[in-house]
Amino acid sequence: MRRKKTAVVALGGNAITKKGEEDTIARQFSNTRESLRGIVELIKDGYNLAITHGNGPQVGNAVLRVEFARGKAPILPLGICVADTEGGMGYMIEQSLQNRLNKERIKREVVTIVTQVIVDKEDPSIKQPSKFIGQFYSRVEAKKLAKQNGWVVKEDRGKMWRRVVPSPIPLEIVEKKTVKTLVEKGIIVIAAGGGGIPVYVENDGKLEGVDAVIDKDRASAVLARDIGAELLLILTEVEKVALNYGTLLQQDLDRLTVEEAKKYLAERHFPAGSMGPKIEAAIQFLESGGKEVIITSIPKAYDSVKKKNAGTRIVLK
Ligand code: ADP
Ligand code: MG
Repeated sequence: MRRKKTAVVALGGNAITKKGEEDTIARQFSNTRESLRGIVELIKDGYNLAITHGNGPQVGNAVLRVEFARGKAPILPLGICVADTEGGMGYMIEQSLQNRLNKERIKREVVTIVTQVIVDKEDPSIKQPSKFIGQFYSRVEAKKLAKQNGWVVKEDRGKMWRRVVPSPIPLEIVEKKTVKTLVEKGIIVIAAGGGGIPVYVENDGKLEGVDAVIDKDRASAVLARDIGAELLLILTEVEKVALNYGTLLQQDLDRLTVEEAKKYLAERHFPAGSMGPKIEAAIQFLESGGKEVIITSIPKAYDSVKKKNAGTRIVLK
C-alpha cells in the first residue's frame, strides 16, 4: 500500500476567535466547528494530519486572570498559561473534530498532546524580549507592575505600555516521536498549540521551562519537519499572500519559490507580526526537506490542496 500523505495544518487565530466578535467559549466552539470543514475533507481523502493552532487571545486572557486573582490564587508562570491553553483549546478542537468524524462515520481518532518545544537558552530574544502580551497600562502602572512581578514592559501604540516576553526560535519538538507514531497510525494529533511550551535543555540533560512564547507558524514548521510531513498548510484570514498588501498596488500570488520568498521578505512585503513568520516558516520547512507549503483561508483549505485552484503555494524551486 502506498504510504498516506502527511500534512501539518496550522490554524490561525481567526479559526477560533474572530476580530470584532464578542469572545465567549460558546463562540469559540462554534467558530472551531466551522473551521474544521476543510480539515474533515482532507481526512476523508485519507490524509494523515497533525493540527497546530494559535493562542494569542486565549493566553492573553489567561495572564489577565492570573493578575486579577493576585493574592487569592497562586501566580501561574507564562509556561503554565501556555500549557493550560494547549490543553483547553486542544480539548475544544479535539471534541469538535471527533464529533464531526463520528457523525460522518469516519473511523479516525483525535488526540491532543501538550507539547514542549526546545529553544536555545542563549536565544537573543530571552535577553531582549519584544513580543507584546496582555493588557495595556499607563507608563506609571506598567513600571509598578514590572517592579512587582519582574516583568519587562515597553511602550506599545499610542503611549500605552504593555508587558513584553521573549519569543525564542523553536529548534525541536520534544514529543516528536510520539506525534509521528500516532500520526502514522492515522490518529489526528493536535500538537504544538500556541507554538508549544518553550523549554531548554540543561547541561545534565534535564528540561527546564522558559517564560516565553513561541510563534505558532515557526513551531508548525519544526513539527512538520520533525514528523516528516510533505505538506504544511497554513490557514489564516486571507486567501492568498500578496505583494504590496493593503495598497492599491496589491498583487495576490498563486505561487512562490523560496528564492522569491526571501527576496520579497527582504523587500518588507511580509510584516513581522503577521505574514512574516508564515513566510519564514515556509522557507524553513522547504529547506529542511518539506515538499510544499500552502497559505490560504479556512474556506479555501480543501480546494487549495485538492483542486489547486486557491491559495498561495510555496515550493523550493
Ligand atoms: P494568524 O492568526 O492566522 O497567524 P495573522 O494576523 O498573524 O494571522 O497573519 C495573517 C494576516 O497577515 C492576514 O490576515 C493579513 O491581514 C496580514 N498580511 C500582512 N501582510 C500580508 C501580505 N503580504 N499578504 C497577505 N496578508 C498579509
Ligand atoms: Mg499570527
